[in-house]
Amino acid sequence: MDLLPFIRCGTLAHGHLCPPLVLGTRAGAAAMERLGVGRAVERELLAIVELGSDHYAQGFADGVQFVTGCTFGKELIFRLPHGKAGVQLVDQARDRAVRVTVRPETIGRLEETEWFRACQSSGQFANGSDQLAGPTADALLSVPEDSLFTFSPVFPLGLDRPSPTFESVRCDSCGESVLAPYAPVIDGQRLCAVCQERSRARAEFISQHRSDGPIKE
Ligand SMILES: [Zn+2]
Ligand SMILES: [Zn+2]
Repeated sequence: MDLLPFIRCGTLAHGHLCPPLVLGTRAGAAAMERLGVGRAVERELLAIVELGSDHYAQGFADGVQFVTGCTFGKELIFRLPHGKAGVQLVDQARDRAVRVTVRPETIGRLEETEWFRACQSSGQFANGSDQLAGPTADALLSVPEDSLFTFSPVFPLGLDRPSPTFESVRCDSCGESVLAPYAPVIDGQRLCAVCQERSRARAEFISQHRSDGPIKE
C-alpha cells in the first residue's frame, strides 16, 4: 500500500507536518493488513484510538482516519482516553479486531528528537517545529513496521451500529430540516429537540405561575 497519498492528504487536513500522523498512518495500514481488509469505503471498519484529548500525538488519530477511511464524518472513529498511542481497528463484517500500539522504544526515540523538544518547549506544533518535523517523519517512514509497533493477535469484537436514516422532515416550530427520528410528533406537532425543550420550558413556566398566582412586585 502506497502510504504517501494518505500522509499528504492527512497533513493537509491536520494542518501541519506531523511525525505522529506518519505513525498513525502506518499503524492503520498495518492493522488493515493484519485483518485482511481494505479501507472503509462505506462503514466496513471502526477505529478506537487510545489517545486522550491532551495527548501531544493527536496526529496519530488523523493518520488512522485518513488511511483507514474511519472518519469522524462517518462516525467510525472513537477515543478510549488511555493516554496511549494505540489503535484498535474493528472489521465490522466479521466482528473481529486487532490492536496496534507504538512500541515504548519508538516513543522514546521520538521524544528525543529536536522536533519533540521544540514542540514541548513552545507548546506549538507548527511554525518553529515544521522544518524539524520533516526528518523525523522521514525516519519513521523508513524503518520496518515491526520495529515501530506491537500487534495483538486478531480477536473477536462486535459492536452494534445504527444503520443510516434517509428521511428528513421540517420542524413545525423553527422550520429547520431535521432527520425524522429526532423530531417525534408531540400533541400533533413535529418538533426538533431544541423546540421540544423550549416548549417544555414554556409549559413549565406557565404551570408554575398558574399555581403561584400572579407575580407580586
Ligand atoms: Zn500534529
Ligand atoms: Zn425546531
